[in-house]
Amino acid sequence: MDMDGNMNLGMGAADAPFYLPQGDEREVFTAAHENGLPVLLKGPTGCGKTRFVAHMAANLGRPLYTVACHDDLAAADLIGRYLLKGGETVWVDGPLTRAVREGAICYLDEVVEARKDVTVVLHPLTDDRRILPIDRTGEELEAAPGFMLVASYNPGYQNILKTLKPSTRQRFISVEFDFPAQELETKIVAEESGLDVDRCKALVRLAGKLRGLKGQDLEEGVSTRLVVYAATLIAQGMNTDRAIRAAMIEPLTDDEDIKRGLLDLVTAVFG
Ligand code: ADP
Repeated sequence: MDMDGNMNLGMGAADAPFYLPQGDEREVFTAAHENGLPVLLKGPTGCGKTRFVAHMAANLGRPLYTVACHDDLAAADLIGRYLLKGGETVWVDGPLTRAVREGAICYLDEVVEARKDVTVVLHPLTDDRRILPIDRTGEELEAAPGFMLVASYNPGYQNILKTLKPSTRQRFISVEFDFPAQELETKIVAEESGLDVDRCKALVRLAGKLRGLKGQDLEEGVSTRLVVYAATLIAQGMNTDRAIRAAMIEPLTDDEDIKRGLLDLVTAVFG
């Protein structure tokens, strides 16, 4: 792709990325897709939201455009803009416009990070009109069948300025995500890293203890992503302590005292 957004085309159910469901999220997503309803995935970072969308897009046989939102992301980055090409000005669709035209799934990861004008664009797409007005070209696109808008956000960040307005969030079917239960997370970590189940289980137990410290010493608990990283390093032959420090302790805090406390937990779990 030439603008923001990654595309995964032509993926079928057979090569859908591995995803272990936590509940009925696949059924809810499928029903929303069938009915042209937008979906909001709420939950902490690294708990499987992005993987879930990739898995569902492949299963539903829809192309997927993923956009990682950031505080400089403006509506034009999603819709498109005029660009100079070989001395000529040509209109180039952004990822949202492409998805609307092609009937693809457009996934806006961490949508609250984006600039305010982005929500304005999303509103007419999330009601039953399902249209995308493109002011710059004068077009008003009706979403092709199969188009679906998916957004994610992490309600954990206690930032009052960066929460979704009720007028926006009430336009989406919402699915809540959390870190998987220990047994599920062990399976995920083993599948993703190739490390044996016993050692994965111990890492997941440690993750549970670290998550218990959220709100006291830590702003965010350790993500499933980080547990997978630790297991991957260990599976590659790295010493367990070193891998845990690199993947599950250092990413959580810069405070030396807190780090020492976290390392005590490691000793308690691993002996
Ligand atoms: P998020 O989008 O919530 O920040 P990701 O979807 O990127 O998180 O998940 C991070 C990693 O965790 C994935 O790359 C995958 O390895 C693993 N993961 C988390 N949950 C699951 C799950 N239910 N099934 C399979 N892998 C998972």
